This record gives sequence, C-alpha cells and structure tokens, in this order.
Amino acid sequence: MKTLMNYIDGTFVPAQSGDTIEDINPATGMVIAHIPRSTKADVELAAASAKSAQADWNALTLDQRADWLDAIADALQAKHEAIAQAESLDTGKPISLARRVDATRSVDNFRFFADFARKQQPLTFEMSDAMNFVERNGLGVVGLITPWNLPLYLMSWKVAPALLMGNSIVAKPSEMTPLTANILAETLDELNLPRGVFNLVHGLGPEVGQGILEHPLINGISFTGGTATGRIVAATAAPMFKKLSLELGGKNATIILEDADLDQAVQGAVKAAFTNSGQVCLCGSRIMVHASIADEFIKRFVGEVAAMRIGEPSDEATQIGTVISMDHLEKVEFYINLAIEEGGTILTGGTRSMMGGVGPTPEGAYLAPTVIGGLSHLSRCATEEIFGPVVTVHTFDRLAEVTEMANATEYGLAGSIWTQDVEVGKALAKTIETGIVWINTWLHRDLRTPFGGVKHSGVGREGGQWSLGFFSETTNICVMNPRELGD
Ligand code: NDP
Repeated sequence: MKTLMNYIDGTFVPAQSGDTIEDINPATGMVIAHIPRSTKADVELAAASAKSAQADWNALTLDQRADWLDAIADALQAKHEAIAQAESLDTGKPISLARRVDATRSVDNFRFFADFARKQQPLTFEMSDAMNFVERNGLGVVGLITPWNLPLYLMSWKVAPALLMGNSIVAKPSEMTPLTANILAETLDELNLPRGVFNLVHGLGPEVGQGILEHPLINGISFTGGTATGRIVAATAAPMFKKLSLELGGKNATIILEDADLDQAVQGAVKAAFTNSGQVCLCGSRIMVHASIADEFIKRFVGEVAAMRIGEPSDEATQIGTVISMDHLEKVEFYINLAIEEGGTILTGGTRSMMGGVGPTPEGAYLAPTVIGGLSHLSRCATEEIFGPVVTVHTFDRLAEVTEMANATEYGLAGSIWTQDVEVGKALAKTIETGIVWINTWLHRDLRTPFGGVKHSGVGREGGQWSLGFFSETTNICVMNPRELGD
C-alpha cells in the first residue's frame, strides 16, 4: 500500500490538512494507495513556488530545455515497465495496452518535443526598411488538469511543451489515477529539475482543480476532461483572461462506405470502438455503415466483438479489462438500459459477465463490449458521450445522409472513414464538423499535427506548433534599418 505525497517546491509533502483519499483498483475494489486530499492552501504553496522558479527556467535557451526533455524521456524509458504496471493497476486497462500505448507515448511525448524544438527556425519578417524578430517566452505559471483514461500519456502531452517553452507548472492528475503522475514527480526529483519548476498537487477536482483555475498567479490552463467540467473551467478562467486550452468529450463517427475493404473496416471499427474499453475521447462510438453492406459488416463486426478476450488487466492475453470504477460502470449500464427503452437491440454484450472461464470478482468493474443496433442516430445513446465499451450501429444510403447523421451531435472531436476511394473519403471528411478525420485508419498520430475538437469537444489545438503556441507568449521586436534611421 502506497502513501503518495504532493510534490511542491522540490519536496514531497502531505496535504496541509493531513486528509487523504483512497485510490481504488477497479479490477478488485481494493485500496492500492492513499493520496493527499489537498485544498486551495496546497495550491497556494505550489503556485508561489512555481512563480519563483519560472524566470530562471525561462532564461534557459530552448536547446537547454530540450536537453532536459531528453533527460526526462531517458529516465521514463528506464521506468517503462513500472509505468505500464502502475497505469494498468490504476485504470484496469490491459497491461499490454498500458505498455504499448500509455508508457510508450509518455516517453515519446518528451522525446518528440525535444526534437521538435531543435528544428525550430527563428521567426523573422523582413520589410524594405526594417526587420521583425518574433521572440517567444513562457506564459509564466501554467495549470495542467488531466483525466483518468490516459493518465501519464495526457499529462506528459502537456508537461513536455509547457517545460520546453519556459513555463513552470502546477499539475493535477485525476484523483482516480494518481500513480504515474507520482512516478513523473519522482523522476523529475531524481533528475534534480530546478525546484518549483514542476509541482504536483493531488486531490479532488472541485477542490484542487478549482483552486488552480482561480489562482491569480496561474496564467494559463490546459485542461483535458469532460465537456461539463470544461464549461466550469471556461466560466472560471475566462473572466480572469487566462489563456485556455480545452480538450473535451467526443462522440465520434466511424463511417463505412459501400466500397470499403470489409476486413480492414471491421478490424478498424473494433479497435476504434473498444480500445481502452471505449474510454478514449477519440473512440468511434457510433458506426454508420452503408445499407448495401450493413448485414455482412454487422455479422462480422459482432462476431469479432463477441470473441474479444475480457480478463484480468494483468493477464497478457486480455483485450478488455475493466472500466475506471464501479460508479462509471453504473453510468454506462444506465445508457445500455436506456438504449433498450429507446427501442434498441443488444447485438452482443450488455452484461457484466466475463468470458473464457475467468469469472469476474463482484467488486471488479468488468463490462462486456456491447454493440447496439436498431436505434435512431438522434437517440440519446447515439448522441451523448457514454465513454465506455458501447457502440451503436446505424445505416445510411447516401453520402449527404451520413454527413447529416455524423454532425447530429454537439460533439466534434474525431472520426474515421473507411473507403477504397480516398478522394471520396477526403471530400466526405471536409463535410464533417470535427477536428480530426482518419481515412482507413484510427488513432494514427503524427505528433506534429493539430489535435483538438470543434463544437462542444473543445477550444484550441495542441500538438507540434500548436502546443508551442499555446504554451508561449510572443513579442514582436521591429528593428528599423540603421540606414533608414539616418535618412
Ligand atoms: P472530468 O472532466 O471529470 O475530469 C477531468 C479533470 O478535471 C480531473 O482531474 C478532475 O478531477 C478535474 N476536475 C473536476 N472538476 C473540476 C473543477 N471544478 N475544476 C477543475 N478541475 C476539475 O473528466 P474525466 O476524468 O471523467 O475524463 C473523461 C472525460 O475526458 C471524457 O469526457 C473524455 O472525452 C475526456 N477526454 C478528452 C480528451 C481530449 O483530448 N479531447 C482526451 C481524454 C479524455 P477529479 O478526477 O478529481 O474529479
């Protein structure tokens, strides 16, 4: 049993109140750690420490900070297995997934931004009589608030560019998944990152998170989480003129055109719907398949889903672990029951039972991957974010119809289109109100590209230049040519 601490001003400390929160393993219901239940008083210390460290950190060159990012990547790489194990324990995700996606991408985020920084060219604009030099500095202190589904993956996606651009940090992970943020803090401590540059405050959203949003020393907020929380973040931070990046929920469409390669489309749709038990903001939780191939597609898709191996997260062969908590399981089950009330048919799944002879522990938040047919694309289950292993399937006849169906939700984060005619796919992609469209693939990420959503899926973009832009302020220095001054 671990007792985690906050990391403030280069020291591991408990919450000032002394209160703690239990961290529960969703596969067993057992307490695996106690974390500080911090309050605004702890945020106050963290923000003051970050403020006092920021100027010196910002005074380093970009290359020096890139070197720090490489050192962090090396140190995290050495802990790759420990990160994967901790993530699987905290979230209930399969260990194979935690290795392949969470641990690997956490290292890659630091490595990528270090390399990216070294490729930056000075930004200048020449005039006939003057030269403009665009200088970039850190925003100051930034608040980073992250969710439970991809804990270190998403935190490192913010920490790396924030450090790179000269910011100091107050970070808050979800209280449900604090283990890997703690590994990051330990790693930065071992590397002797200057004290105060990175501060970690554990606790509850309405307490610590809200404290970060409201703190006057914190100049920018990068938030990833649900749309409802995003609304609170915006309402609190915007009147204080804080720079804001909001990465919110999704209800993404997987569109299968009539000429799609069915093998590829079935495999892609399964991966899009059920990776991490559907708990990825990018998951394709609505499938729209052309009516002419719908019977064949649904038969094969349902067959694949029914054969997925549900099991203990620590089992190497497991494809579907648990959802994040019993509370979340009940929320997902609410939607499955609603689907039945709305006239839907459960084509597979819908139950807590496990397969392959591995019985669920009563306390484990196991839910079979669930496919629902027969629902209107306007039903609640097909338009609201469920964020679990549930997908609805719909049919269409015309491209204009599928555009209207895909856009019939308040979200606009991502989606995928499956077709052998790439030009038709690209033309269709432009009609979908969304930040990201994949054609014949899903979650294929080049970290240089813009990442983010439209409508209620968020405000702003992160990734490559967009992250550097968000985590910096620019000053344009316009220098008149000496010759012109003399005239
Ligand atoms: P939440 O919005 O519940 O929480 C996100 C973070 O915000 C947590 O650290 C949470 O703390 C904190 N928080 C909660 N209330 C407040 C508050 N009043 N002020 C400040 N911070 C607060 O999201 P979930 O953790 O449930 O994550 C799932 C959601 O995240 C889904 O909607 C998913 O789509 C979205 N997401 C979006 C991504 C994107 O890139 N667009 C990527 C991944 C997920 P606590 O946990 O303590 O409540």
